[in-house]
Amino acid sequence: MLNAAVQEALNHQIQHELYSAYVYLSMSAYFESANLPGCAHWMRLQSQEEVAHAMKFFTFVNDRGGRVVLEALAQPPVEFQSPLDVFQKALEHERKVSESIYRIYDLASKEKDYPTQVLLNWFVSEQVEEEQSASAIVGLLEMCAGEGPALIMLDRQLGARERDDH
Ligand code: MG
Repeated sequence: MLNAAVQEALNHQIQHELYSAYVYLSMSAYFESANLPGCAHWMRLQSQEEVAHAMKFFTFVNDRGGRVVLEALAQPPVEFQSPLDVFQKALEHERKVSESIYRIYDLASKEKDYPTQVLLNWFVSEQVEEEQSASAIVGLLEMCAGEGPALIMLDRQLGARERDDH
């Protein structure tokens, strides 16, 4: 049986992951409107990954005999200054998600909830990748000052991202 505090934290994390999906979908919409289809594609896949993350927690809570309670989602940001601004915000967002995962990890270890810690191990590694990929794109956008032919090339590169089902 799932500890009540851990269950609450996991339910809140489901909301956090779904909100992430919402944020990235909004970023995808921004890129569509800015005529950057590659960036829009990258963000659409990112959004789908976040839904998959939420579902990992959803399945886990159910498997442990817990009760999933979905929380309200806020409106995501709509307007952005530039492609660089979008990816900087994505990176900030992922850093917050990482902190949230670490807090649940602390709680699960305090409560001696080993299965939750095993689940969270996967998320800890995933967050390293998430932060790294957003940070790499921020670096590239800073290098090309977010404009010109370099931006078009980067857009093409991001457009080649393939779906990663994990
Ligand atoms: Mg996530």
